[in-house]
Amino acid sequence: MTAILEARNISKQFGGGLFQPPPLTALDNFTMKIETDPPTITAVVGESGSGKTTLAQILLGILPPTTGELLYEGKPLKSLSKREHRNFLRDVQMILQDPYESYNPFYRVDHILRMGIRRFGVAKSRAEEQKVLVDALEAVGLRPEETLGRYPHQLSGGQRQRVMVARALAVRPRVIIADEPVSMVDASLRATILDSLQTLARDYGVSVIYITHDLTTAYQIGDNVLVMYRGVVAEAGDAELIVPNPLHPYTQLLVGSIPRPDPRRPWMEEQQPSEIGRSADPDKGCKFANRCPHAMEMCLEVQPPAYQVDDHRVASCFLHREAAKSEATDLTDVFVTPKGHESSAAD
Ligand code: SF4
Repeated sequence: MTAILEARNISKQFGGGLFQPPPLTALDNFTMKIETDPPTITAVVGESGSGKTTLAQILLGILPPTTGELLYEGKPLKSLSKREHRNFLRDVQMILQDPYESYNPFYRVDHILRMGIRRFGVAKSRAEEQKVLVDALEAVGLRPEETLGRYPHQLSGGQRQRVMVARALAVRPRVIIADEPVSMVDASLRATILDSLQTLARDYGVSVIYITHDLTTAYQIGDNVLVMYRGVVAEAGDAELIVPNPLHPYTQLLVGSIPRPDPRRPWMEEQQPSEIGRSADPDKGCKFANRCPHAMEMCLEVQPPAYQVDDHRVASCFLHREAAKSEATDLTDVFVTPKGHESSAAD
């Protein structure tokens, strides 16, 4: 089956023109497919500058790649007909970090939800439109009678973010890209919003790309995790494999910095780079070399490929070259299918 979205050998550079600062590579030769049968949740994790937001913008078609291409249902975005492009805009929806910024404060929630429904012709009558709108609110755990008729400032941060999820869901998308959707809400609301994202995949058949800097929530909801570091994939695959037992030194660092409830087990301090790593040129070789405690001479020369170290994981690190089965060209090959969908994926 053709993937709904495919990022094929995508790189993105910023700057580097005449009178501009040296080019910055935000994404480097990235390849991945997004399937919707069965729907999955893929968590893209990384710190600031890892390229995860650039990836989100490219997948949404709002940022063109410097090289490589984005394909929608097997066709390059640039070659889509008007009708196909409209389908792309409907199928791939986004949820932003700060819903307040994306709302017009003069529009009530009803209007915000109706805009998408009308734009994409989701409902054939006013009655059907009202049903779509009510269903979308209920799907994300909001009571329509307490939400409709209100302005964004009359809602709490958590309610606003859930309206954002409902707005995306109301147009019947197949993929939702959520960029740090819980980073601006407090901990008590985080679980509710994450639960809404899981509902999208489980009950509405929507695949979710969950972009975050927080490995804990990535593990909580992601079927698969993709750890990014300075525009490349450090480690990717089954969340159940990666988070409890990370192989890449960068993932180990992220996992080690997760706060632990046991005070006798302190956070892991970042280990010092190896002697060799200290002399690494940040623009050559492994991008993590100047922070890596295991950096070797070979790490300073070339960026390691994504080694497939077992059926459901790749790690881009020379430490795993010997144990690797092969070099992976498509990360999706190692991704797991959500529980209960294994047979449909094999069909
Ligand atoms: Fe460290 Fe080398 Fe692995 Fe990069 S390739 S993470 S520098 S050991």
